[in-house]
Amino acid sequence: LLDSAGAVAPTIFAELSARAAETGAINLGQGFPDEDGPTEVLEAARSAIASGRNQYPPGRGVPELLEAVAEHQERFYGIHLDPRTEIIATAGATEALTAALLALLSPGDEVVVFEPFYDSYAAAIALAGARLVPVRLAWPDFQPDTAELERAVTNRTRAILVNDPHNPTGAVFSDAVRRSIVDLAARNDAVIITDEVYEHLVWGAPHRPIATLPGAAERTVSISSGGKTFSATGWKIGWLTAPEDLVTAVLTVKQYLTYANGSPLQPAIARGLRLPDEFFSELGRDMHARSTVLGDGLEAAGLSISRPAGTYFTVADVSPLGHEDAAAFCRALPEKVGVIGVPVSAFVTPEHDEEYRSLVRFAACKKVDVLEQATSRLAKLR
Ligand code: PMP
Ligand code: GLN
Repeated sequence: LLDSAGAVAPTIFAELSARAAETGAINLGQGFPDEDGPTEVLEAARSAIASGRNQYPPGRGVPELLEAVAEHQERFYGIHLDPRTEIIATAGATEALTAALLALLSPGDEVVVFEPFYDSYAAAIALAGARLVPVRLAWPDFQPDTAELERAVTNRTRAILVNDPHNPTGAVFSDAVRRSIVDLAARNDAVIITDEVYEHLVWGAPHRPIATLPGAAERTVSISSGGKTFSATGWKIGWLTAPEDLVTAVLTVKQYLTYANGSPLQPAIARGLRLPDEFFSELGRDMHARSTVLGDGLEAAGLSISRPAGTYFTVADVSPLGHEDAAAFCRALPEKVGVIGVPVSAFVTPEHDEEYRSLVRFAACKKVDVLEQATSRLAKLR
């Protein structure tokens, strides 16, 4: 995690957002919206601050948020949870993931991870002293090969780390894939840790949490966050749900990572989780429309794309433009045409770098005119 001079290496997102600020390029790199979320949620935070909710909240989370998460899981997925024992609030999904991995892994344990993967996964697995075993998601549909998955999961596997809907590919796993994950976890007595932060950013079928599959709930730690659903990525309010014994294990780590977090923001996210159904369905429709503008624009600029089924992201292949090295392409892009994208190689293990070499991830969570401007700039590369 240090560079050759011994300095902390910035994450790919920090590096690219700094480049965007320096060059004035349109930032389709780091995934954050350029508009605020629902006014009810913003207003609830203001009023929580004004009413003095500014000291440490309970370590497990503010009861209102824990209850709102339980209601949300019941309303959308029919999952019943006890907010006192089966849910904790965290500093974003990131802390939930790190605390779960540190709590449940021992040095030398294997964790099966779908590659490409969100950047914090490898770092948290390394902190736990465990070993990441990648299962590739291949262009263009990014579904795992079930034979490869079966080979990867063994009696050394302590956890299968799922991210569905998936960053960076925009893929949504099929039910057959979800079933085989649950089956393999059960056969090898592994836990499933599932990152579902894009649960409401899907089009097509409604999101199906892996915890709802038969035999899954008792071994699954589910993680989500208010960042994406309420367009408040900077608030870092997340949550984790699991059977009580797993929650207790995670809490032992969480209480010394941050102890507690986001006192006035937790009730505001609770307010958001209680918004009417229409808010949530509109969120998916709206992101689909933006994603279509981005995808159509990338195709018009001569790139080939994998059409996502959800998330903020679209992966494009830049080889039709004559570029084989997406990392070099992305480094030159801000100066050349004023756009930022992330090379997919930032999300893979060095052994598999070659397979993803010409792929770039672009974010669609921006105003439509910004997306149009970005893709018309890319069209000048032809
Ligand atoms: N998991 C995935 C797949 C993500 O894309 C992100 C952030 N974009 C996170 C976790 C982190 O979420 P948070 O900001 O709530 O920590
Ligand atoms: N999750 C966001 C992305 O994938 C970035 C979050 C971060 O900067 N760590 O773009």
